[in-house]
Amino acid sequence: MLTLTCPYCGIAAEETELHAGGESHLKRFGPGSSDPEFEAYLFARKNPKGVHFERWRHLYGCGKWFLAARDTATLQVFGTYRAQTPVPPPEIVAAIQAARPGWQPDWDSNPRAADDGDSAPGLGDDPAPNPTPSRDSFA
Ligand SMILES: [Zn+2]
Repeated sequence: MLTLTCPYCGIAAEETELHAGGESHLKRFGPGSSDPEFEAYLFARKNPKGVHFERWRHLYGCGKWFLAARDTATLQVFGTYRAQTPVPPPEIVAAIQAARPGWQPDWDSNPRAADDGDSAPGLGDDPAPNPTPSRDSFA
């Protein structure tokens, strides 16, 4: 049986106390995205035999959502962490690499670096893309 430790209340909960929420760390695409991006966000999910990052809810406990890294084939749990964590913490990556030598993360290790404007050509070129309206503009 799968047992995950809730990072909020610290209880080692069995699978029957939890609710699975699917793949974690999805990049959201909303209004303004292309149809293929939005379709992939809605429907495309990884289904690996091996290391997987998932969302779980401590349904019959504190009720909070959290994230877990585990092996889908062996049920080995590498760790759990809070749902607000943008990428898996280094200690979980280290635990995975200790158990699976050669495994490499498939995300950017510094997610904030991707949001500096250089990754979306053209967006940073407009000096006032969304100017704040002044009181005079409503007169
Ligand atoms: Zn809990």
